[in-house]
Amino acid sequence: MAPEQERSADLTSSVTALARKRGALIMAHSYQPAEIQDAADFVGDSLELCRAAASAPEEIIVLCGVRFMAETASVLAPRKLVIHPVPEAGCPLADSMTAADMRAMKAAFPAALPVVYVNSSMELKALSYACCTSANAVQAVESVPSGEVIFGPDRNLGVFVSRRTGKVVRVFPGGCPPHARADVSDLRTRIAEWPDAEVLVHPETPPEAWDLATAVLGTGGMIRHVGRSSATRFLIGTEGGFVHRLNKLFPDKQFLAVGRISCPNMKKITLESLSASLEDLEPVVTVEPTLARQALAAIERMVGIG
Ligand code: SF4
Repeated sequence: MAPEQERSADLTSSVTALARKRGALIMAHSYQPAEIQDAADFVGDSLELCRAAASAPEEIIVLCGVRFMAETASVLAPRKLVIHPVPEAGCPLADSMTAADMRAMKAAFPAALPVVYVNSSMELKALSYACCTSANAVQAVESVPSGEVIFGPDRNLGVFVSRRTGKVVRVFPGGCPPHARADVSDLRTRIAEWPDAEVLVHPETPPEAWDLATAVLGTGGMIRHVGRSSATRFLIGTEGGFVHRLNKLFPDKQFLAVGRISCPNMKKITLESLSASLEDLEPVVTVEPTLARQALAAIERMVGIG
């Protein structure tokens, strides 16, 4: 084993031992670095993380992802200690739509009910009828008791939803920078290199990527698709860290990340910062209680859909 791999393996062992000593559950998003996924007790997409945070018996949750995920877990599990190892790991998409933006859209479209992507601030969730993830966005919009919906902050996901529902969808023009700037020419090149492969792309990517795809799916949907498919090779158009999870789940199939999609915020947590968090049980995530109460209904609708 190379010295760097040996160091990483030692650190992973000490992190998992420390987690057991603390009675903590380490949860990691599917876009986290490989070594964080390997150290985690649970790896999942945003919806899976929310559900697992709420139902886990552990009182301490260390959430390895970006800040809105830890905040959402904290609202769903208010009596648990939720720790986010690197508070600076935020999400530019979540910051792209403000409460003032939402109030302006509500004033412009008074008959529309708001559905926000979970990748949003708590203030936005508190102003919304329902939250959703990419896994249940279509069902969430269909469940709204109005024919018109405000959707934000991600424009591409909003367009995707509007094409698949009978609702009038008023879409806020935000975007996930890594997915919105996906390199579609790289996708074309890889398709030419692996012509037998199925092409799975995330709905945060531009519609021109969808036109090249076998299916447009969130990461949970990609896993289910691969599990059912008889294909053996897959081109994966979402954040590159997800391929590590696919390789572990399906060792007999081949996966290639395409579109050069990499999120710097998802790479901010390291084994060292995870270890320090477990040692100190910090930084703890808190959401102001009134705001948490206002956002809870929209978050619970999301958890109950799909
Ligand atoms: Fe935010 Fe996009 Fe990074 Fe996810 S991949 S954390 S949506 S910037």
